[in-house]
Amino acid sequence: MDVIVIGAGIAGAVAARCLAEEQGKQVLVLEKKEHVGGNCYDEKDAYGILIHKYGPHIFHTNDQQVYDWLSRFTEWYAFGHEVVARVGDRLLPVPFNLNTLKQVYGEEKGEELTEKLVNAYGMGSRVPILKLRQSQDPEIQGIADFVYENIFLRYTMKQWGQKPEEIDPGVTGRVPVVISYDNRYFGDPYQGMPLTGYTPMFQKILDHPNITVKTGTEASKLLEIRPGETQVLLEGRPFFGAVIYTGPVDELFDCCYGRLPYRSLRFDFEHYDQPDYQGHSVVNYTVSEEFTRITEFKYLTGQQAEDTTIVKEYPFAYTGAEGEIPYYAIQNPENQALYERYAALAEGISNFHLLGRLAEYKYYNMDAIAARALKLARGLT
Ligand code: FAD
Ligand code: UDP
Repeated sequence: MDVIVIGAGIAGAVAARCLAEEQGKQVLVLEKKEHVGGNCYDEKDAYGILIHKYGPHIFHTNDQQVYDWLSRFTEWYAFGHEVVARVGDRLLPVPFNLNTLKQVYGEEKGEELTEKLVNAYGMGSRVPILKLRQSQDPEIQGIADFVYENIFLRYTMKQWGQKPEEIDPGVTGRVPVVISYDNRYFGDPYQGMPLTGYTPMFQKILDHPNITVKTGTEASKLLEIRPGETQVLLEGRPFFGAVIYTGPVDELFDCCYGRLPYRSLRFDFEHYDQPDYQGHSVVNYTVSEEFTRITEFKYLTGQQAEDTTIVKEYPFAYTGAEGEIPYYAIQNPENQALYERYAALAEGISNFHLLGRLAEYKYYNMDAIAARALKLARGLT
């Protein structure tokens, strides 16, 4: 083996394929789950409905290189993902945009406020809620207060256990107020779902004669990585090839400096013997309920069926207990400083690379990870 990749999510799979194909490396991929795909994994449930086991995943990017690269392994079901927020008895388009504005304020007042927003920020602009709240214009402040109270405050409290102004501004900035009539959740030119699902796409990416995938294999069963050591041991012997690690960096070193904080999620799936549950792929519960959102999968995947499966997402603080999965890094200066200490340990190991959402402790989307994986793999010699 020339390279060991730990984790078969999008980071590990893309890096492995690139190294195998472009550099002729023999790559061993170790994945502790029983399947490939990491968070993106999908499968048919007991009723034949294609579900995303770890929450709804919609591919979107403005990076043509990533789109073209992945398109070698899948065709796409192209669709523009739209989300609505349940606010009392209303369903409001999210991100909050000019359609939402008119729904909330009515045609006439909505028209007036539209002009104001367009003059202030420009048609087509995307304004983070925390920036909108800084407006000195009382009417724009009024809109900002409405959006803050009805879209962001309680959803963010559920998701992060903190208020929007207490978390990294980049997080709420992912869902800006959009000064246009575009109801789509993402602004990227390429968006959609792998036509037959994510799992077949990952299987194809990893299907290469130079790649060996071992699922159900916790890396620490084969590899020894100790704080302060400069060498990785593979089954007791020094391994001189590159190692790419895509798991949580604190767990790599037995949390020797204490745990890095993450948010986790509990997914409650429900099946209904009826063709429709909510008429939308995703409904965000921004003012009520304990869960953040409900996804109805058939509206994401385009699957035709007489019945339907949904999932509710309940956020909680990751503790590291058996069976829990860390999903979201909680980015703030204190956590970043702790992360840097672990990253420094990893840097001390020769030919060892941290890659991906967990290993880099960042809030990356799939496309950003794929781009980073290609860059890392192409930079390895
Ligand atoms: P992961 O997918 O977490 O893969 C890491 C893999 O490493 C896992 O399979 C893990 O089991 C394995 N591993 C870890 N440690 C070890 C070990 N010691 N030994 C062996 N294996 C190990 N992105 C989008 O672009 N669009 C979306 O719509 C979207 N929706 C999301 C919804 C939710 C609820 C969440 C949580 C994320 C979403 N994302 C979305 C982000 C997306 O999931 C990530 O960008 C991407 O999956 C991260 O890939 P990764 O390979 O870095 O990590
Ligand atoms: N958010 C919110 N209300 C919404 C949608 C998003 O408050 O209706 C905030 C919330 O803090 C969330 C963040 O914006 O964590 C980013 O949302 P996104 O949909 O990107 O989260 P993800 O899909 O990654 O869970």
